[in-house]
Amino acid sequence: MSDTHILVVEDEDPVRELLAATLEGEGYAVLEAASGEDAQSTLGDMTPALILLDWMLPGISGLEFTRWMKRDPALRDIPIIMLTARGEESSKVVGLEAGVDDYVTKPFSTRELLARVKAVLRRTGGEVQDLIRVDAGLQIDMTQH
Ligand code: CA
Repeated sequence: MSDTHILVVEDEDPVRELLAATLEGEGYAVLEAASGEDAQSTLGDMTPALILLDWMLPGISGLEFTRWMKRDPALRDIPIIMLTARGEESSKVVGLEAGVDDYVTKPFSTRELLARVKAVLRRTGGEVQDLIRVDAGLQIDMTQH
């Protein structure tokens, strides 16, 4: 099992279970939440590498959840892939403006889902490595002075 944790937020049990099984099949560690409120309490305990977030949730929506995360400095850098129904182009723009990193349209193919998950993790993982390099450089400068 990989150390890469992915939080899946989806209220429909069969869809959430399919997402979890697909990701676990690729070796990811999956956390499941059936609502935005569930996901908020999960994020109080740990920080996943990625959140797969359904737009249509009971209680707070995926969009509201995204905006809530982006207001929190501890959470705003966690990448989000939003799940939407087909044909919601205007919603996609609103989501991207709120800070969503990518979309998967339902019904989704597992191949496309995994490709998008890997692409987002690659992108965000690269950013972390750049930050570490910058930090190391600063430390070297400080010991020289
Ligand atoms: Ca849903």
